[in-house]
Amino acid sequence: MIEIGIRKSEFIPYYQPIINSLSGEIIGCETLLRWHKSNGDIIPPNAFIDIAEKNKQIYEITDLLIDQVTADISSLKGLDDQFYASINVLPRQLENQTFATKLLQKLSEHEMPNHRLAIEVTESTPFTDLKSAKRVMQRLIDNDISIKLDDAGTGFGGFSYLQQLPFNTLKIDKMFIDTIGTCDVKANILNAIITFGKKAKLTMIAEGVETLDQVEYLREQGVYLIQGFVYAKPMPFDELKTFINACKSNDDNCLACRLD
Ligand code: C2E
Ligand code: CA
Ligand code: CA
Repeated sequence: MIEIGIRKSEFIPYYQPIINSLSGEIIGCETLLRWHKSNGDIIPPNAFIDIAEKNKQIYEITDLLIDQVTADISSLKGLDDQFYASINVLPRQLENQTFATKLLQKLSEHEMPNHRLAIEVTESTPFTDLKSAKRVMQRLIDNDISIKLDDAGTGFGGFSYLQQLPFNTLKIDKMFIDTIGTCDVKANILNAIITFGKKAKLTMIAEGVETLDQVEYLREQGVYLIQGFVYAKPMPFDELKTFINACKSNDDNCLACRLD
């Protein structure tokens, strides 16, 4: 079924805005896959990523996704200089120079500035060849593509990857955000992650933020970059365009501005 989905271009990028809670500005977005089936069903990634990974179809799906994302983002006019779209890749993809070569080629084909694309690496599977990963990552960074550690503290390697690989951003997982305002022991881990992130001079993005109380708490701790339903859910490209335009004109429809 995945094979047919690939052939029929049924894998579509959705985009979830990332907002600076101090300024209300949209600083970028994360690209999240959705499978739009011909019968109208929309399948979330957790239902197919693992299978696509086992069957190695994830490589083709990611290539197609990069095609669509570069086409979408390069068509946006008047974006702030900082704006970027991040894509999710598996550690294994980052161990392969061909991935970097193809990515840089695609950006140049679309005449899209390299810094408009960022990479998120999930810890859901481990790195197997740290030396190669480091080389590929350094090449991407030298070409202005930032690399973010996703789900930090929840999977393999965790903080040891941060010591060995050139990440510049930490994405704080929803698991830790959910502990804000509770007595959960993981609330201490959240504070430890934030302290560590500050000391290591990493940019931090809080993910899965659903309430204003959470935004407020994170702001007090010095974490301003917010991704979560409190501002916006992942949305198709057309809706992202409307969201960005509403944000730019400080329009009443801009939720991020209203919350600010
Ligand atoms: P992720 O990279 O950690 O992405 C964040 C997930 O949290 C997304 O789920 C997003 O919709 C969800 N989320 C964001 N804010 C909130 C919130 O406030 N509340 C709640 N309840 N959820 C929130 P989604 O889109 O279902 O994606 C799940 C996972 O699938 C992603 O987790 C990522 O690991 C993977 N994934 C998505 N797209 C790709 C892709 O292109 N390639 C790969 N390899 N993995 C992908
Ligand atoms: Ca991610
Ligand atoms: Ca994550």
